[in-house]
Amino acid sequence: MRIVSKDPFSIPEIQPGYLTAVADLEVFLAGIRFVRRLFAAQPLANCIETETWPGSQVASEADLTDFVRGTAPRSSIQWGSCRMGDERAPVDPQLRVRGVEGLRVIDASVMPSMVSGNTYAATMMVAERGADFVLHGA
Ligand SMILES: Cc1cc2nc3c(=O)[nH]c(=O)nc-3n(C[C@H](O)[C@H](O)[C@H](O)COP(=O)(O)OP(=O)(O)OC[C@H]3O[C@@H](n4cnc5c(N)ncnc54)[C@H](O)[C@@H]3O)c2cc1C
Repeated sequence: MRIVSKDPFSIPEIQPGYLTAVADLEVFLAGIRFVRRLFAAQPLANCIETETWPGSQVASEADLTDFVRGTAPRSSIQWGSCRMGDERAPVDPQLRVRGVEGLRVIDASVMPSMVSGNTYAATMMVAERGADFVLHGA
């Protein structure tokens, strides 16, 4: 995420870099191969006429990579862009922005790592806690 202008109201550039990490691509490729193995095994194989998408002709590493890059869905739930934590984090554990008087961040952006469950409930918890800090001056 990059600030692209000195104008505070201009929208930052967000480049999530999808599939730039080789490990992410490998997860997709392994997933496709696993599903193919699964459907080729009995008794499931008896129920399958043919693979329709992407189709069995898409089999080489290069073709599968093209397929993944061209079709992998994105499910963007933004979180953690302004994490709370130790001195290297922009936000302290009381949700105060370090170095800026009277400013807190109270939303999903302070999560230091991805929660394993739904983010909405965790965001509400951050909000409840933040409201307490504001009301009681922590
Ligand atoms: C498609 C989708 C489905 C989801 N499904 C689930 C689910 O089933 N379960 C679950 O737990 N979580 C789900 N989530 C995640 C959950 O909605 C978010 O984690 C949560 O809403 C994050 O809260 P937030 O307050 O950080 O951000 P947001 O809810 O995005 O709130 C940010 C607020 O800031 C406002 N805002 C933005 N810029 C400015 C500005 N410059 N000035 C003033 N106001 C501004 C916006 O209008 C918005 O009201 C889903 C998210 C998405 C996108």
